Amino acid sequence: MSNVMKEYFLDLDRAAKDPARKVAWCTSVGPAEILRAMGFEVFFPENHGAMLGATRVCMETIPVANAHGYSPEICSYLTSDIGAYIKGITPLTKAFGIEEIPRPDVLVYNTNQCKDVMHWFEYYASEFSAPIFGIHPPTNLPEIKPEYIDDVARQFEALIHFLEPVIGHPMNRESLKTTVALSLEATNLWSEVLNLAQAVPSPMTFFDSTIYMGPIVVLRGTEIAVKYYKDLLGELKEKIQENHAAVPEENKRIYWDGMPVWGRLRDQSNIFKENKACVVASTYCNSWIFSDFDPEDPLPSMARAYIKIFINRNDQYKEDYIERMVRDFKIDGVIFMAARTCPNNSNSSYNLPRKLKDKGIPTIIIDGDLCDLRCYSDEQSTTLIEAFLETI
Ligand code: SF4
Repeated sequence: MSNVMKEYFLDLDRAAKDPARKVAWCTSVGPAEILRAMGFEVFFPENHGAMLGATRVCMETIPVANAHGYSPEICSYLTSDIGAYIKGITPLTKAFGIEEIPRPDVLVYNTNQCKDVMHWFEYYASEFSAPIFGIHPPTNLPEIKPEYIDDVARQFEALIHFLEPVIGHPMNRESLKTTVALSLEATNLWSEVLNLAQAVPSPMTFFDSTIYMGPIVVLRGTEIAVKYYKDLLGELKEKIQENHAAVPEENKRIYWDGMPVWGRLRDQSNIFKENKACVVASTYCNSWIFSDFDPEDPLPSMARAYIKIFINRNDQYKEDYIERMVRDFKIDGVIFMAARTCPNNSNSSYNLPRKLKDKGIPTIIIDGDLCDLRCYSDEQSTTLIEAFLETI
């Protein structure tokens, strides 16, 4: 895993310094397949935001963005990342000896997840004087209608026309099919990996999966991601055969809704372990399952896959989804992480936890944030989680 991510970043760094290669920035659930198929190297600022969170470097950089007019209430990936850029630092330096993030030749965002990404990418488009393209799909959907798919597929087609002069050649449609096929293979393997946590005891926890998910975010559409998930699947299957429990004496199984608190992964993992509870499934890690990809029908199938993601759906869909997960993974309780700076990935504000509770599924809400640890109390969260685990 370390080598896969290291090589990905080192190659991006080389690409950024090579005038013959082009770098595109893309949102985490943006149309990365189009970019890769056209020959761009792809950088994902949200992944950089998560690194800033996990290393807690964000606590130095968020205030810098705040001082430059970005509110502490908006996406803390955005504020962590823009603050780091203004300050001239990146966790890539300590991790891989890379001096700076790769400069973009083009930026592509998709508002299927939120509108913060638009503001975020517009900032950099202006900073680097780089061209920018936004995909704006319908949002908060109860169902996926054919006209939504047509709309987004047409936007993807327009994106291709926009990118051709940037990369300097027309899109090779066969290459798009190959890239979508590789993405499909990787995402299906990722889905298989996550489903292995249905085993009792589970061979992995949510906290492991937040690390395992790196390649499906940044390397989908490549052979590297496919190989990585094949290897991981093999290792986890062996663990199941050996009856290996990620949490020894596992006796409670938890579902995590919302984002990870990146700067507290280890601490939270320990709280659950000490209480013999395993967080076996999550909304977050499942967000990179795109089983609708179809290499024979690339743009419409990508349109469907990228608009039907959990974050882009209405509450009834989310309720049904979590109920299904509770059943399939034999879950004893659901934890909703209410991220202060990401209402888009927080599902506790409109009665969803109460509705699940009324159906006999224990739930709690913990306040926190993906990056900004000023919004997270260790004591309160530990007390809440331990009390919850005791009651279930
Ligand atoms: S979904 Fe949330 S965390 Fe992700 S970019 Fe948007 S506001 Fe930030």
